[in-house]
Amino acid sequence: MSNLTWTIGDVRVTRIVELEMASGGTFLMAEATPDAIRRIDWLAPHFAEADGRLKMSIHALVIETPSKRIVVDTCIGNDKPRQIAAWANMQTRFLEDMTAAGFPPESIDVVLCTHLHVDHVGWNTRLVDGKWVPTFPNARYLMGKAEFEYWRDEGDSEVSDAQIFADSVQPVWDAGLVDLVAPDHQVCAEVRLVPTPGHTIDHVSVAIASGGHAAIITGDFVHHPCQMAHTGWASHFDYDKGQSSATRRRMFEDFARDQTLVIGTHFAAPTAGRVIKDGEAFRFEV
Ligand SMILES: [Zn+2]
Repeated sequence: MSNLTWTIGDVRVTRIVELEMASGGTFLMAEATPDAIRRIDWLAPHFAEADGRLKMSIHALVIETPSKRIVVDTCIGNDKPRQIAAWANMQTRFLEDMTAAGFPPESIDVVLCTHLHVDHVGWNTRLVDGKWVPTFPNARYLMGKAEFEYWRDEGDSEVSDAQIFADSVQPVWDAGLVDLVAPDHQVCAEVRLVPTPGHTIDHVSVAIASGGHAAIITGDFVHHPCQMAHTGWASHFDYDKGQSSATRRRMFEDFARDQTLVIGTHFAAPTAGRVIKDGEAFRFEV
């Protein structure tokens, strides 16, 4: 498998895929029926099948700057007890693929979680001799302070959320590897966080700037490019649907104006492109 890469000035971003899928969109957004998806004619072939199913991906994005190696979002992980059957007790070669791409776990300086949902924290830890241990032993794990506190305190109310926090967040906290940060935290000269709340309480995106070029790693304020055509299509999993819709409109306006390279956290290959103003809405050009 060849990995997609993008260059932004002195920075390189590499996509490491864990899982790719095509499925009916209503599992994610009520409005995303096959008919509605087929009516957005620029989605196929990259982001939708001809029958109107959505093509999506779960992947990590490795940012290499002149001084740091940063992993953004750590997918689902292996061996984890999970409610979604296809995500339970996974046995993928994700870590081997990451190492083969030139990124052995011990070489990672920073792990960044855009938010603490199940498909963004999984490889924070791995199972060794029956215990969850940090996968990236030399990394600082950056998490939004309000995001961390929400899942630490609210996670108890839902068994599945408590499980996710317990096996994928608590062990890195206990190992002293977590830094709780503000949603506009500057990670290094080229990389900073951008607040994009609504999907979760303290969701962040990751902005990259180098040599006069700019890119953004979305996280889940947008799950799929169909939300550029319909910014009001909110995910069932959005914490505040009004806020997530406002965030999408605001961010897409900025990206269209600034010609930002947009790298989607769940966008199928080719995964990155430019947002173009399209009447009252937007489209994605790859
Ligand atoms: Zn996600």
